[in-house]
Amino acid sequence: MGYLLKNCAAIVTSASAPVLRDQDMLIEGKAIAAIGANLSAGPLPAGTEIIDATGWFVYPGLVNTHHHFFQCFVRNRADLDWTKLSVIEWLDRIYPIFSRLTEDQFYNASVVALAELVKHGCTTAFDHQYNFPRHAGSRIVDRQFEAADLFGIRFHAGRGTNTLPKSEGSTIPDEMLETTDGFLADCERLIDSYHDAGAFSMRQVALAPCQPVNCYKETFTESLRLARDKGVLLHTHVGEGESPVLLARTGRRTVQYLEEMGFAGPDVWYAHCWELKHPELARLAATGTGVSHCPEPVYLVGAEVTDIPAMAALGVRVGLGADGAASNDNSNLMHCVHSAYMLQCLVASSRQHPVPDPAAFLGYATEGGASLLGRSDIGRLGVGMAADLFAIDTRRLEYVGTRHDPASLIPKVGVGTAVDMTMVNGRIVWRDGAFPGLDEGALFARAEASLLNLNT
Ligand SMILES: [Zn+2]
Repeated sequence: MGYLLKNCAAIVTSASAPVLRDQDMLIEGKAIAAIGANLSAGPLPAGTEIIDATGWFVYPGLVNTHHHFFQCFVRNRADLDWTKLSVIEWLDRIYPIFSRLTEDQFYNASVVALAELVKHGCTTAFDHQYNFPRHAGSRIVDRQFEAADLFGIRFHAGRGTNTLPKSEGSTIPDEMLETTDGFLADCERLIDSYHDAGAFSMRQVALAPCQPVNCYKETFTESLRLARDKGVLLHTHVGEGESPVLLARTGRRTVQYLEEMGFAGPDVWYAHCWELKHPELARLAATGTGVSHCPEPVYLVGAEVTDIPAMAALGVRVGLGADGAASNDNSNLMHCVHSAYMLQCLVASSRQHPVPDPAAFLGYATEGGASLLGRSDIGRLGVGMAADLFAIDTRRLEYVGTRHDPASLIPKVGVGTAVDMTMVNGRIVWRDGAFPGLDEGALFARAEASLLNLNT
């Protein structure tokens, strides 16, 4: 089974490559077999479905590099509004809710997040799942893989944890704490059960202790040992206000603390990095450590604006993330491409380096994300690459006047509606407003019922 996307108005093979106009794309199995003019005139493999792509702009699938799916069940709540609460008040209200979640709610929140991601062109999702209330059992990440399979999206599971009790300075309720040994044992189980390091892999596992301030040091050093033994990646939160706390506790700000223990390098990426000073950004560049920039929490929390122009000038690897719904009420990475660009423009006059071109922000969400997740088979469109893509039919009034620059369309103009098609590994997972083979109404009813159980 394969597809021929016939007569694509534009194919953006990568954010930095020339846009291809009026060409076809042949997809065979999981991969792109050919891109060229008038491929339909030649012989096609048996069973190829020809899709009329006239007017379509085709892009590499978006890669989400930071999220907390479970937080989808605390969205749009005035009682949890960051702007009206101190951090401590917010934590005191939200952690009791997080610690009540059941396995069924973790599953359904993952369904909700993944559906929104797929509808808006995301083809690979990473989730940082650090919440393991004891009563919720040991199969939360397994259920996330199940939810990803339902939609056919590539899923990288970040197995997180918190190990430091409140009595020793963390903010984590006791019912959400794990031991380092228990955490590592489950990481090993998940890697052995799910991690596939091969080309076109649909399932990977990363080790992702939640935050240095909420874990014992041994949780990080032992994660390092296991990850490098197993050949999996490492991830954590850095630079979201904790550096002064860590400095007081250890004599080191977060970047130095992590680098000294070895939790840095080409197999590591950090989320956020708001508060990093320029010498710290230079350390990220020197060690090859990547950054998942999540723009929308910066707006919501009123945080220091992440210095993406400085990172670009230094050559730091940058990807984009939606982040969890506790600090961004949507799971729409397409929206984040636009907001990331706009955020940098807001503070451009105070910066040493110019804002990267709009198209660069599409690059962060595609090739940049693929780099953070250690993938060379996704992030751009080309022969032999995985057929991970999305398409927008631009024959609509809102696109008139924008169609001359397809690479900048999403960051500069913004795309406010669901895409027309999303494909992962050569399989159509979203088309014409529906998930093929799935009943969205039934999924909605199940998720809504699960959410109501949280509030009663
Ligand atoms: Zn986060």
